[in-house]
Amino acid sequence: MKYPFEKFGSSAAQQQVFIEKLPSVTKAMDEFFRTSAIAMQSLHQKNIFGGPQGIRQDLGFENALKVLLIACYNDRLITTATSSLRLAELIRQLTLRWYSFGKSIDAALFVSYNLFAQQSRSMFLLRDLKSQVEFVSNSGALSVHDEVESLLAPITSRKWYRSKQGIGDKLSSVFISEGDFTNVDLPAPGIQIHFKKTQTYDLRAPLFLDKDWVETPLISNGKVTASCPGCGQKCRGQAFSYLEITCPTCRTVWQLAT
Ligand SMILES: [Zn+2]
Repeated sequence: MKYPFEKFGSSAAQQQVFIEKLPSVTKAMDEFFRTSAIAMQSLHQKNIFGGPQGIRQDLGFENALKVLLIACYNDRLITTATSSLRLAELIRQLTLRWYSFGKSIDAALFVSYNLFAQQSRSMFLLRDLKSQVEFVSNSGALSVHDEVESLLAPITSRKWYRSKQGIGDKLSSVFISEGDFTNVDLPAPGIQIHFKKTQTYDLRAPLFLDKDWVETPLISNGKVTASCPGCGQKCRGQAFSYLEITCPTCRTVWQLAT
């Protein structure tokens, strides 16, 4: 398995919720994926033709993204107050979900390449497109149905750990290798995830981690100490390269690599 999100799936019921509750987005996603898949082919050809962004990247992709933003307004997923980062995260979550309905992995990869590896460029593009469409869009309040909320909820938690090989989520299997992230001070002190080293763009991972979400476990005398993601209780275990911990206080089962 080359891409960690490849096996990410959805139930028929989840797909039904997406189609029913997000009618405009559903209509826009087909074209968004079609143009993204073409753009991915173009990216594959970049070494042959020497164009760093690929030779046909702009063919339809930006326009389809713009239509998708309008759809997000129409389905009340965003408002004019939505930040670029939040918008980028929403596009990532919609893409992961749409892919999980059995859609093209090439398209999903192109979107993730843009969001992760070309992060500042895609933030700029999103900001620009958003300002173009917000005047013609429904600028009503957010109105996200509970079922949609859970469909688009983050796969990862806000409780991460630092290890020798990288950073990992204590509550999911998402792990970001050394070289695939950078510590940054803007937009806030934290960690920007870009997958520039392994290029295994994991659509389940967030684009940005708050600095306070990442704990560096204490290791001494062959023991590791880190706090439980459920209740904050300090838990101790043998400092194996990988361990699963059950918190004695709240029974949360979580994981850690050293
Ligand atoms: Zn606990």
